[in-house]
Amino acid sequence: CVSGRVLWTVGANHSAVELDDGSVRHCSVRRVLRTMQRETRSLVVAGDRVLVRPTEGDEGVIERIEPRTSTISRTSGRFQQILTANVDQAVIVVSADDPPLKLGVVDRFLVGAEKGGVRGIVCINKADLVNPVLLQPIAGQYTRIGFDVVLVSARLGLGIDELRRRLVGHQSVVAGQSGVGKSSLLNCVQPGLDRRTGGISDETGKGTHTTRVAELFRLDGGGWVVDTPGIRQLMLWDVAPGELEGLYPEFRPYVPDCRFASCSHLVEKECAVQAAVERGDISPLRYDTYTRMFNQDDDPAWVRPEDM
Ligand code: GDP
Ligand code: ZN
Repeated sequence: CVSGRVLWTVGANHSAVELDDGSVRHCSVRRVLRTMQRETRSLVVAGDRVLVRPTEGDEGVIERIEPRTSTISRTSGRFQQILTANVDQAVIVVSADDPPLKLGVVDRFLVGAEKGGVRGIVCINKADLVNPVLLQPIAGQYTRIGFDVVLVSARLGLGIDELRRRLVGHQSVVAGQSGVGKSSLLNCVQPGLDRRTGGISDETGKGTHTTRVAELFRLDGGGWVVDTPGIRQLMLWDVAPGELEGLYPEFRPYVPDCRFASCSHLVEKECAVQAAVERGDISPLRYDTYTRMFNQDDDPAWVRPEDM
């Protein structure tokens, strides 16, 4: 057997695997593995490290799936569907304007990344559309918490080198609403990459392509970008309100000091989180998105730089 990484899958039994020598094999999955997977509802997914037994031509059989270091999933009906595995960072792309910057969206993705155990990186694109001074408070808010922030403009080519540096050597999933410039940015980072990502859902006309939930693209210089049309636009991780306090890293030090163990940090008296917000130790904007998510408000806060 030889080891490799799954580039994409279609259905339960067809994967493209890039072997460590760079060749790509179309693989089925060993039957016993398939049965096991059906029980655990975790089929082979893009990003999986696998052992492949080469068969005829460019074909092979996946004999083994290595343990996953992380998974990104979405809820589909009553089940969790794993979209991709072994991602180590999520690049959350938003635009400074057009569409306007929505911190509710940023925070939803950050919560999702946190829940999935992957580093969230905030990438603010279209920096050319606003006075950069206006973006500083937002960037500062996130860097203070410990998140990396990259200000970029795909149009002007600003910040692209820095973005590329953060991607190279990592396996990153790129998320963000439609129209914020994800394709443009990927194209700047590596011309040619996006032409292929674009092909996943619309260009090819091959029916099978529409069912690829995620696809890996190798970066020159090392590392991968995972394009998952399914999480490009939505916050798909299922988070219960009570879990949220643990997914806002800057809340964590205060939570144990709340008077009530079950404190929601919304209305309770002697709440250390609310006190920290009042003192300015927790950003009121982050607290706002917390309360909206807690109340399952589907219309995330719209906060524009000029409102800060
Ligand atoms: P996606 O849906 O997130 O993949 O976004 P696209 O890459 O398709 O970009 C959406 C629109 O925003 C296109 O019209 C791009 O030309 C435009 N756009 C992308 N990046 C920038 C940027 O840095 N500045 C400006 N002003 N427009 C941009
Ligand atoms: Zn509290």
